[in-house]
Amino acid sequence: MNETLIFGGSFDPIHNGHVAMLHAAIDQIKPSRTLLIPVGNAWQKSRMPFAPSRHRVAMLKLALPNVTVDDREVSRGGATYSVDTMRELKRDFPKEQFVWLLGSDAFSALDTWEEPAQLAQMVKFAVVRRAGESIALPITPQQHEIVDCDPPGVSSTQIRLRLKGAAAERESAKELVPAAVYEYIQHHQLYL
Ligand code: ATP
Repeated sequence: MNETLIFGGSFDPIHNGHVAMLHAAIDQIKPSRTLLIPVGNAWQKSRMPFAPSRHRVAMLKLALPNVTVDDREVSRGGATYSVDTMRELKRDFPKEQFVWLLGSDAFSALDTWEEPAQLAQMVKFAVVRRAGESIALPITPQQHEIVDCDPPGVSSTQIRLRLKGAAAERESAKELVPAAVYEYIQHHQLYL
């Protein structure tokens, strides 16, 4: 069976937690293909990504050079919904099985996503426990497996906060992201 692992997120910026969970999921699931799908700039009005998509895509490529970045959501105008992305992928690859990688916070909030039941018919979820959280099941039944790993308790929010601070605090973000990503952030003066 051909399985495609999908890892969607705002990746604003990608960090060591994302990298660790993706590697663990690839080791456990052994997908034939993996796609990183960054959300577009017109994501949810309540919470737009801070860095433009071209920078978020560039940082993904630096952090995970051997993984394909699929830019369909960043190229799509208007709101981006995972269910629409999955419909497209199913149409493009009808024989493929899809596994959607996410953190326990995102999994337990699945009922708030667009058309969760339809999404659940198209994918199996691979869930990673976020540090300090337990895995709460959403109300809509979901096929899922737990990825056995313990990624660092990092969030992009925490990184952006450090990057907004004074020089020493900005520098301290270095330990939370891959080295090439930190250099890219500094070079382009992102998240100031
Ligand atoms: P923000 O702080 O901006 O909300 P984030 O760190 O949660 O961002 P996203 O790009 O929104 O990062 O996350 C993409 C996916 O990765 C989500 O499913 C999220 O739950 C998961 N994830 C992010 N960081 C971790 C982590 N440290 N451990 C486990 N899962 C994580």
